[in-house]
Amino acid sequence: MWTSGVGLYEKSMAFVIVTKPRHLVPHVRRTAAFIALLALSALLPAGCSRSGDTPASNMSAAREAKKERKELRDNIKKIEPFFKPMAKPAAYDWLASHNEPGQTFDEYLDADPVKPTRERDAIYILPLGTFTPQQTKIVAIASGYIEAFYGLAIKMLPARPIKRPLRIKDSRRNTYTKVEQVRTGYILDELLKPLLPADAAALIAFTPEDLFPDPSMAYVFGQASLENRVGVWSLARLDDNADFDTFLRRTIKIGAHETGHMFSMRHCTKYECLMSGTNHLGETDRRPIDACPECTAKICWISNADQASRYKTLAMFCRKNGLVKEADEFDRKSVAISNS
Ligand SMILES: [Zn+2]
Ligand SMILES: [Zn+2]
Repeated sequence: MWTSGVGLYEKSMAFVIVTKPRHLVPHVRRTAAFIALLALSALLPAGCSRSGDTPASNMSAAREAKKERKELRDNIKKIEPFFKPMAKPAAYDWLASHNEPGQTFDEYLDADPVKPTRERDAIYILPLGTFTPQQTKIVAIASGYIEAFYGLAIKMLPARPIKRPLRIKDSRRNTYTKVEQVRTGYILDELLKPLLPADAAALIAFTPEDLFPDPSMAYVFGQASLENRVGVWSLARLDDNADFDTFLRRTIKIGAHETGHMFSMRHCTKYECLMSGTNHLGETDRRPIDACPECTAKICWISNADQASRYKTLAMFCRKNGLVKEADEFDRKSVAISNS
């Protein structure tokens, strides 16, 4: 059982994950720049307990687990050439203002991370609000990417609107943009929690609405409660007059990054990685849609994925959805794992 409290605080695009929320509180300035606070406490049960295992089968399972970890460690070296080491941060980049230690594969294993369980092995996605045709398409593709990336079934729930009028405390006009914003606590507690299916590792709502977490903050990209296995991510600030592919890549990156946090993955500081923190859209745009060797080992471990096959699946998915550059690279990574 994973019982540590986990807090995620987000500034601009990214989230920081720490083991105890109270350690972060002094660092959170309630300014317009800070955008998300993920209040998390006791978490999902981790791992699969298998009733009826004999001591012999336990030993066999332990040997298999050791072999699997060795393979994953060996694969780290094989795909390292595809990733850039983390560059020295520019003035407004995430690492210029966040002193983070990073997290290797072994450190992740030692941290007793949250894993999907046999009973909770699906990610539910709820489109929440009124979407443009383009936003609908982007959410569908991003959901498919998360499915291929984490090897977990995605179950799409029927889209539903946010009914108006909202109570005064649940909605406001943003002072600067004059756009209506919806309070994240209302979405998490009153809309998502009652919908949470028993087999959900997580229920994630994508919404075109702009969000705010409390009156002191200007806006928030997203907020989640791992304790309750629900989260909401906004598309409102990802579009930014970008072309379709840029908007799609941003949404994929945000969705896959946040899902990684929901499985206890911390920010990556070793490589330019999907799991690195980002402070602004420019930083997000220069990051890959893939995770680095260390973070990929974590994902293959939690999903029991064969790494070469997983890359092939991702290549096919990207090719089908017009992400040709990424598709070619996933194919090359698959070959690198298989050939060496
Ligand atoms: Zn993050
Ligand atoms: Zn990484």
